[in-house]
Amino acid sequence: MVGGENRESEVPGVIRTECVIVGAGPAGLFAVFELGLLGIKCEIVDSLAHPGGQCTELYPDKPIYDIPALPVCGAQELVDRLMQQVKPFGAGFHFGQEVVEVRRQASGRFDVATAAGTRFDAGSLIIAGGLGSFQPRRLLVPDAERFEGSQVHYRVRRAEDFHGRDVVVAGGGDSALDWVLEFCGKARSVALVHRRAEFRAQPASVARMGQLAAEGRIRHVTGTIQSLVVAGDRLTGVRVQQADKTTVELSCELVLACFGLHPKLGPIANWGLALEKKALKVDTEKFQTSEPGIFAIGDVNTYPGKKKLILSGFHEAALAAFGVQHYVYPDKRQFLQYTTTSPIMRERLGVAAPE
Ligand code: FAD
Repeated sequence: MVGGENRESEVPGVIRTECVIVGAGPAGLFAVFELGLLGIKCEIVDSLAHPGGQCTELYPDKPIYDIPALPVCGAQELVDRLMQQVKPFGAGFHFGQEVVEVRRQASGRFDVATAAGTRFDAGSLIIAGGLGSFQPRRLLVPDAERFEGSQVHYRVRRAEDFHGRDVVVAGGGDSALDWVLEFCGKARSVALVHRRAEFRAQPASVARMGQLAAEGRIRHVTGTIQSLVVAGDRLTGVRVQQADKTTVELSCELVLACFGLHPKLGPIANWGLALEKKALKVDTEKFQTSEPGIFAIGDVNTYPGKKKLILSGFHEAALAAFGVQHYVYPDKRQFLQYTTTSPIMRERLGVAAPE
């Protein structure tokens, strides 16, 4: 047996689990459910700060029409429903952490580590990484990389770090607008740079920003950051090219670029698993990768006839859960039970027996 109940591992600070799921998109979330029905505990990790993968990150307000038995379902609503469905199984959720390392131990179990330092000792792995982990779109000007993390930022870890400073926020979506409104009055100065006059943000936020700009409490420039102004080893401003091709210089100490996120297969490609066109090759019996004990479901995998649909990810999650069960408990007899009639499944679901 390479599995075992979830518990603190013999190594302090390492979480021991039967399965780690990489990715909390719809496929990863449904895998929590299918494993739970089989009595298998898991830990699920996502580099985003919240569950839902593409549904939440790329199209939360769009309606989906091809989820069985739900004629129409909002993408965020689908994720909310999945989160509700997995509640009984007590999975461990680890958000805002990218899984960067997967190594097989001599015992056959897996060492799994996140960039934030969380470590797991896992009996098996389900990779549900979709198109990859979402990374911030970066400011593509010379020296931006040099100042990344010190004076050029793509997310706000501590809002107070921006207080009392001259700040340029770049972008035209909700996060750019939210931070402009948040920093106004707290930062020494705030300038918003967006390449177009139109915004992709809540109309109320856009209206409030316009009002603050009219009152002179923030500066709003329509244009594109062309270069950074650097004096010695410090960034002291940005040069913005405006629509009429003239350039304006804004002095600042900090730049916050909110250009949104894009998925990148990232570390998954380095775990020694067979790939085809940037997707993990799997069998269609268990959705196991080229490495026994590592399964891949959802958009991240490929096999003859693969269709990148939520529906496919759900089916793959169910079969991969049986694959995990067999891998972790090879001597256990496998049989199919119905949630309608199985007392043990009802117990796991925490629902009463029918009258
Ligand atoms: P994803 O949703 O991509 O989730 C993967 C998650 O894994 C992400 O959250 C990512 O951050 C995380 N991750 C990746 N690597 C790591 C790592 N190393 N460490 C930690 N976390 C990691 N499909 C339909 O069936 N019907 C539709 O109507 C439909 N409409 C769509 C509309 C749009 C605009 C788009 C973009 C897609 C649509 N899709 C639709 C496709 C559907 O969204 C995807 O098939 C589905 O999201 C795939 O789910 P997934 O769980 O495999 O991956």
